[in-house]
Amino acid sequence: MENALQTENQLLRRQLQTLLDEARLNEKKLRRLDQLEQRLIATRSLAGLIQVLLEDYKSACDIDAVTLVLADPEYEIARILESEKRGSAESPGLVLLEKLHIANVHPYLGAFDAELQGAIFDPWPSGCLSMVLLPIMRQGELIGSLNLASCKAERFAADSGTDFLERLAAIFSICLENALNHERLKLVGLTDPLTGVHNRRFFETRCHDEIAHARRHYLNLACMFLDIDKFKRINDTLGHHAGDEVLRNVARLIKLQLRSNDIIARYGGEEFVALLPHTGLKQAYEIAERIRTSIAAHPFQPLPGENLAVTISIGVAMLPAELAGDESTLAEKLVSAADAALYQAKEGGRNRVVCAEEFPV
Ligand code: GH3
Ligand code: MG
Ligand code: MG
Repeated sequence: MENALQTENQLLRRQLQTLLDEARLNEKKLRRLDQLEQRLIATRSLAGLIQVLLEDYKSACDIDAVTLVLADPEYEIARILESEKRGSAESPGLVLLEKLHIANVHPYLGAFDAELQGAIFDPWPSGCLSMVLLPIMRQGELIGSLNLASCKAERFAADSGTDFLERLAAIFSICLENALNHERLKLVGLTDPLTGVHNRRFFETRCHDEIAHARRHYLNLACMFLDIDKFKRINDTLGHHAGDEVLRNVARLIKLQLRSNDIIARYGGEEFVALLPHTGLKQAYEIAERIRTSIAAHPFQPLPGENLAVTISIGVAMLPAELAGDESTLAEKLVSAADAALYQAKEGGRNRVVCAEEFPV
């Protein structure tokens, strides 16, 4: 009798110990997740948010592979990441898809299955035995999936709870929307509402950043000032609405000749400015010529039945890679050199491109 009681007692004590260990483990897990959630909430930038999830989470929770798949049908996330990370939207583990291939709105937990999610783990970590695929939902819609893999079979066992992980995915989804809205709002303040290109405020900030980048990497940076010829006459003869229509089309035609990492902004009135990173004077001149001829050849029709010839004058300047100086002074010099070249183009009869001969040191 006494023996039986003792055995039972030992058994109970062992069970209690296991439960205590589990509770302690859960508490530790909860604390780690809590810290991670705090970090997600405190992170403002989109790149930072993705980094917390892909890198911090991986190391904090000892997971062998983490990937994040997000739907990005309008390339909005890619564009924001590109501008935050200066030209590269690449983040190891981040997969941006125009259209999601995944359809499961419920978490998958269990044995590692290479077939299940195709490109999600790329490259596949060797030796992974279990995985979890967590759908990321926003307002009832599937917007992506957070995917974790482990070399331990029991780590994401089919019968484990997913409450913690689902909560993390929900918090991430809110933070993501918040970061996107923040970026959208910033963009509104930096965009010219008439033409949809950036405004002068954006240009001025970016000009400094681009100069700093060009200095760091020893690259040329070209700048163009573009001004529509005799634009006042268009307003005077056809009215402001027709003038606005011409402005919209000119902005569109300029953009068509630029590359995706060039920057175009409306500087004011009928003046535009463009920055062309990693571009020499000769190449910038050729691009400016293409802009000029495409505008001169374009059949403008700002009002029904009203055909109009529009021309543009362009001044081009280049900040040589080897030039030293502080960013503000260099930005001022670059812009004034392009502006002076534009003045010469106007003086020379308009509808032409003039290059600043030498950069004023
Ligand atoms: P130039 O060839 O020397 O550049 O002559 P211009 O007539 O283009 O130059 P000017 O600076 O005399 O006139 C610019 C005009 O642009 C005056 C202004 O009314 C007009 N303008 C500025 N902003 C807008 C706008 O948002 N919409 C319209 N429709 N017109 C605008
Ligand atoms: Mg003008
Ligand atoms: Mg002008």
